[in-house]
Amino acid sequence: MFSGSQEQQVISFCVSSDCNKKLTGGVIQQMDLIEQEIITKDYLTKSNLPASDYVINPYVGCTHACKYCYARFMKRFTGHREEWGKFIDIKQCEKPISLKRIKGKSVFMSSVTDCYNSYEEKYGITRKILEQLVNADCQITISTKSTLILRDIELLKRMSNLKVALSINTLDEDFRADMDNGSSIEDRLEAIKILHNAGIHTVLFMSPIFPYITEWKEIIDRSKEDVCEYWFENLNLRGEYKSSILSYINTRDPDLKEQYRTIYSEKDNTYWEMLADSLNTYCDELGLDYVNYFYHEKLVKEKLNNH
Ligand code: SF4
Repeated sequence: MFSGSQEQQVISFCVSSDCNKKLTGGVIQQMDLIEQEIITKDYLTKSNLPASDYVINPYVGCTHACKYCYARFMKRFTGHREEWGKFIDIKQCEKPISLKRIKGKSVFMSSVTDCYNSYEEKYGITRKILEQLVNADCQITISTKSTLILRDIELLKRMSNLKVALSINTLDEDFRADMDNGSSIEDRLEAIKILHNAGIHTVLFMSPIFPYITEWKEIIDRSKEDVCEYWFENLNLRGEYKSSILSYINTRDPDLKEQYRTIYSEKDNTYWEMLADSLNTYCDELGLDYVNYFYHEKLVKEKLNNH
């Protein structure tokens, strides 16, 4: 579905020290993070995402380490055995991005990493890519959970067809900290405001919506003055993280056990159908622009079938 990484050649490798590096009898402890620079042939990859023609993933792996991250499947393509969030490959590419190829198309950053993960501060790969794209005649969308994007605000202001999405799925900082290592929710909301005030098209990407936990109405109420568009995506549970998320929910909110069983074991979509109606009604009442990606997987399959 996404970019494979078979072509990559490692050009430098180290165990990062920012996670309390410790070597005990030659064994790297779990707290370490494997950091390596690799060569890639082209930053552009054709996309199967419903709303984009190309994706750019400047990194493989992601230090935000979201517990629900579907991108951990990338481990299969890269040979990484470390836990998701414990490795980062920094992609170096000599080939310039073809502006001709993306003319009139849409480009999404990023689908299997956060292009503003913590290593962007050190390597600036995303910034170098944006410098190439600044005059590109295409729709560029950046999605992130990090306020590091504000570093590049002057560059972003020069891009004429740009959307910047900040991902927010809760107002509860404890829940956020349990789920991801991105910026705090308050900082993300502040970043949306700063971007909006700078004239940039802002998106609040409410993803993933956790049934009965995500305070969707409050999030909209808190942010609506600074948000040009909302995107909604439901929590999908599959693969190796399904049981760990369900186990977390059972411990955090034992009262939700039955509801989650109905949604994720019985595959009953009633909750999502009702929530989609409520979201649509609320956004329509407030005159807000929004896109519902609840059926994202279905859309991806349809796009694949049409190729
Ligand atoms: S920020 Fe995105 S790519 Fe990174 S771990 Fe979270 S969901 Fe995965």
